[in-house]
Amino acid sequence: MRTALYPGTFDPITLGHLDIIRRSATLVDKLVIGVAINRDKGPLFSLEERVGMIEAECVGLAEQTGLEIVVHPFENLLIDCANDVGAQIILRGLRAVADFEYEYQMVGMNRVLDSSVETVFLMAEARYQAIASKLVKEIARLGGDVSKFVTPLVNEALSQRLSS
Ligand code: ADP
Repeated sequence: MRTALYPGTFDPITLGHLDIIRRSATLVDKLVIGVAINRDKGPLFSLEERVGMIEAECVGLAEQTGLEIVVHPFENLLIDCANDVGAQIILRGLRAVADFEYEYQMVGMNRVLDSSVETVFLMAEARYQAIASKLVKEIARLGGDVSKFVTPLVNEALSQRLSS
């Protein structure tokens, strides 16, 4: 059984994340979505809210693809989290050159910490590639339409959070 850990902040989950999750079904049997608590990043949504949105969006995806999906909050070292959940693979999405430098360093350092866990990068479909949670929040905050970047459920959560 092949298991991957897909870590991130998911503040909030976007169509870019969901595309990566869907694509992972061709590579693994089980995907553990690791939701980083990331207090330092000052997330807009609480951990429980982020987990709830991911779970709601992944039910259909799991049915469609046959992929087993588990949502797992974590605060420890990524490589320890991978071992805790029995993942042989860390899955990351790659957007642009800007992501590369950081990811390159992470892979290098994680490999020193544990060389048995392999990092795999996937690219989202072209129309989802530019989507970033940070920009989605900025656009929504300024009253822009983010319906092409997130699901209706997340869109609603964003308008509620930003109007209160
Ligand atoms: P992090 O704080 O780890 O960057 P994010 O929630 O922003 O957390 O992203 C989680 C993962 O999903 C990262 O590997 C990121 O590169 C990837 N990702 C986010 N948006 C996209 C996208 N539009 N296309 C491809 N990968 C993406």
